[in-house]
Amino acid sequence: MIKIIAIILLTISTAGAGYFGWTQKKLGTAATEQVAELTQKVEEADKKVESTEEELAASKEMLPPLMTKAQELEAVKAAFSSGTVLKDLEAIYAKEKKGISPERQLGLAGVRLLTNGTKDPATVEAFQKALEMTDWKGQQKVICAAQNALAAAGEKVKVMSECAPEASAGKDDKKADSKEAPAEKADAKDSHGKDDKKGDKKGDKKDAHGPADAHAVHWDYEGAMGPENWGKEFPTCGKGKSQAPLNIKGPFEKVRFSIAPDYKQGQLKIVNNGHTIQVNVPNGSKIRIDGKPFDLLQFHFHRPSEEHIDGKPSAMVVHFVHKSPEGELAVLAVMLREGNENPGIKTLWTHAPKAEGPEAVPDGVMFNPANLLPKEMDFFHYDGSLTTPPCTEKVKFYILKTQVNIAKEQVTDFPFKMNARPVQPANGRPIYTN
Ligand SMILES: [Zn+2]
Repeated sequence: MIKIIAIILLTISTAGAGYFGWTQKKLGTAATEQVAELTQKVEEADKKVESTEEELAASKEMLPPLMTKAQELEAVKAAFSSGTVLKDLEAIYAKEKKGISPERQLGLAGVRLLTNGTKDPATVEAFQKALEMTDWKGQQKVICAAQNALAAAGEKVKVMSECAPEASAGKDDKKADSKEAPAEKADAKDSHGKDDKKGDKKGDKKDAHGPADAHAVHWDYEGAMGPENWGKEFPTCGKGKSQAPLNIKGPFEKVRFSIAPDYKQGQLKIVNNGHTIQVNVPNGSKIRIDGKPFDLLQFHFHRPSEEHIDGKPSAMVVHFVHKSPEGELAVLAVMLREGNENPGIKTLWTHAPKAEGPEAVPDGVMFNPANLLPKEMDFFHYDGSLTTPPCTEKVKFYILKTQVNIAKEQVTDFPFKMNARPVQPANGRPIYTN
């Protein structure tokens, strides 16, 4: 419930700075305990004007799943229904004789709507007018977020077609994206920590939150959409017989080939996709597995490591996701154990977005994925799957025996406390070693 209140307040305060002023003024009085708490969130968000839009966009995507919880909004409505919020806000505006900016008009209209509900046609009309008055281009995201928030809250506000989840520009992009992508490619990007360079973050968002897409199902590492329930929405996760990760333990079967990474330095492109921190790698980095070339698409992190060795996970793991020209996927896993500070991780964490959002491309920051590799390339190998929905199989795993250090503080600085799928049944699969 806090979340949805926050969304509404954030939305309205962003649309109308006057409302923000009011919440500050009213701290400590009348039914505002929750509002005060939320005001703080609004303030924080206000400080980061840049990221606010992203947050709103993300919030918008998260709203439809909350629609069924519209009844939880009663407390919010109670806070507004007395009318004091509206009166105070109107009084503040009345004192300022300059007139009210379109943005404030919108904020005011939003509060009116929350106060009077939709029983009052004049209120709805005022809200619509306020929307029309605002600068469309600059305010579209905010307005859409406001509309969707109110709609999700059970208000019968008209959501403009541009803002409807099915019709929003962002969603269209995503749909177009997934249509263009070959199925396996889409699988690759949506699943194992999202692999495809180009469509990746969009694909992920679609997968994680996109309400308009039939395939867009939210999943998580805990709770109702945790790993034990992935199979309900993603059958392979539940029924597959070659799922990853595995607990690596002997006896092992011997193989004679080797793996040889040839990673290149390139512009750092790093994204927090809501499930992990992922680095999207520019073209040119490869690995040879038994002589066969695979392109490195991306790498990402799990905490703790998904792979267990003799029943034990490491502090973290890096998964380097590769694809052959024929579309085969191969994941190189480098286990990270607590020890000295890792300079490569330091660079990455410095630029990794703390919250889910679009890919960051820090100006002039170069990174070579080879910085995260140990010298020794001895490995364990098995045939597995993507470790995130849809858990597509036929993914080859190579887990390096040599672990790499990461400082304890660097582990705790990773923004996901737990993003590891539990180990899966081996079902008689052999585990190989070179
Ligand atoms: Zn992974």
